[in-house]
Amino acid sequence: MEDKYILSLDIGTSTIRSVIYNSKTDIIGNAFEQVVLHYPKPGFVEVDPDELWQSIVNVVKKSLEDASLSAAQITAMGISTQRSTFITWSRKTGRTFHRFCTWKDIRADKLVTEWNYSYTWKAIKLGAYVLHMVTRNKRFRAGSVMKFTNNQTLLRLCWALQNIPALKNAVQNNDAMFGTLETWLLYKLTGNKVHMSDVSSASATGLFDPFTMQWAGWAMPLFNIPKSILPEVVDNAGEHFTSTVPEIWGHAIPIRSCIADQTASMWGSCCFDTGDVKLTMGTGTFFNINTGRSPHASVSGLYPVVGWRLGDEIVFSAEGGNNDTATIITWAQNIGLFESPADTAEIAMSVPDTDGIYFIPAFSGLGAPYNDCTAAAGFIGIKPSTVKAHLVRAILEAIAFRTVQLYACVRAETNYVFNDIRLDGGVSNNDFIAQLISDLTGLRVERPAQVEMSSLGCAHLVGLQLGIFKSKEKLKSMRKIGTVFTPRPHIKKAYEYTFRRWEEAVNRMCGWYK
Ligand code: ADP
Repeated sequence: MEDKYILSLDIGTSTIRSVIYNSKTDIIGNAFEQVVLHYPKPGFVEVDPDELWQSIVNVVKKSLEDASLSAAQITAMGISTQRSTFITWSRKTGRTFHRFCTWKDIRADKLVTEWNYSYTWKAIKLGAYVLHMVTRNKRFRAGSVMKFTNNQTLLRLCWALQNIPALKNAVQNNDAMFGTLETWLLYKLTGNKVHMSDVSSASATGLFDPFTMQWAGWAMPLFNIPKSILPEVVDNAGEHFTSTVPEIWGHAIPIRSCIADQTASMWGSCCFDTGDVKLTMGTGTFFNINTGRSPHASVSGLYPVVGWRLGDEIVFSAEGGNNDTATIITWAQNIGLFESPADTAEIAMSVPDTDGIYFIPAFSGLGAPYNDCTAAAGFIGIKPSTVKAHLVRAILEAIAFRTVQLYACVRAETNYVFNDIRLDGGVSNNDFIAQLISDLTGLRVERPAQVEMSSLGCAHLVGLQLGIFKSKEKLKSMRKIGTVFTPRPHIKKAYEYTFRRWEEAVNRMCGWYK
């Protein structure tokens, strides 16, 4: 009997990947292409929809060839995408009004600052605080500390609605449609049939209320966003996504799941239970904890997102993030600090320490606990004796230190007992970083045999839907762990001073661009 095959299409910030799995979750076909980012002006980070579409079509074709399968042999596919990257297009023609405005784009920075410091927003937050004191409702507590950021979609969409004439016109003529990346992709794949956003992607826009599980009604009039442009918000798996049109790959492929990349990787790492933690280190770092059935109202800036919704099963996640991780590795590579990222762990270990150098990894600000988009990146402590290996080590230490800070936020705000952290993402291949995270958190750190957890998570969701995998317990038993890092208490002790000095260095760089 022929095996069942699941195709996972994962659109990251750096890479588009198509992976084909068999029913044992072995990879039998794999292809990827780089995402081409455009920087037309300072602060603008865009992706061209035509280029992206062409790459997606090619990558899937190549993965089918790699697996020696045709589209007709694929049982179903799942999609996972980067979040908060959006586009708008014409309802009548499907033509886009601009390129994708990615989550890394800071064109709306002025709006973000204005809103965060505006009297209107301060009054709203004060109102939320009072309501929280009266009702003890967590939703108001979250509202009372809410800050706008550039990587949410909300204020970048406001910028587009104010500054792109074709979009303004289309809104007036009821001809505009809005979508985050997965919404546009579903629209294209289904031949302009569905206009849907999966709930995990919707919840990362800043426009969705995780407490009511709907587009935030209060935000529409406040930010002048017409409700008519928004997609329908749907569950992460099911038949509602329909199928790809046959013209694309020669045969229709049923789409059975669509989920945001970070929660897809929770699925890949089987973080199904409350308190389970995964750490993705790709373009950015995302630390996600499964908080069960209710959204986490954070005071230190852990963002409450919907992990997934499958009928009655709603799971939330508290998320702490750093925008810059692989971006730093890539930058350091580009300026010639090393030839390949794969060499960096060895280079860092070639020196006993950084010789008093600290790196502040803030190319696009700092997330929790700083939540400071005005922080500057840089090295502190360079001296005539400094060699490249010290700089490389300082970079890798800084990536680990930021993760340790995110973990400290989670510890301070929750009562969960953590035993392990499940790693994924390209940077998690780095043994030096993985070991240091284990040392400083005191937790066992598990790295899977292959680190593409978003793709695997998609496959898990699709397979569970179709009965290819019988249960979540079965999926847990199928996990393929590659390397385990265990904490070394003496290293933690040895790092106490360095970590404290690094935090001092970071504090000096906060507020730099104010
Ligand atoms: P995304 O999913 O956000 O597109 P990935 O998870 O694919 O990103 O990460 C790819 C990045 O990981 C590469 O750009 C590279 O800089 C980084 N990387 C790969 N291997 C290593 C390594 N051994 N050490 C540090 N960084 C690495």
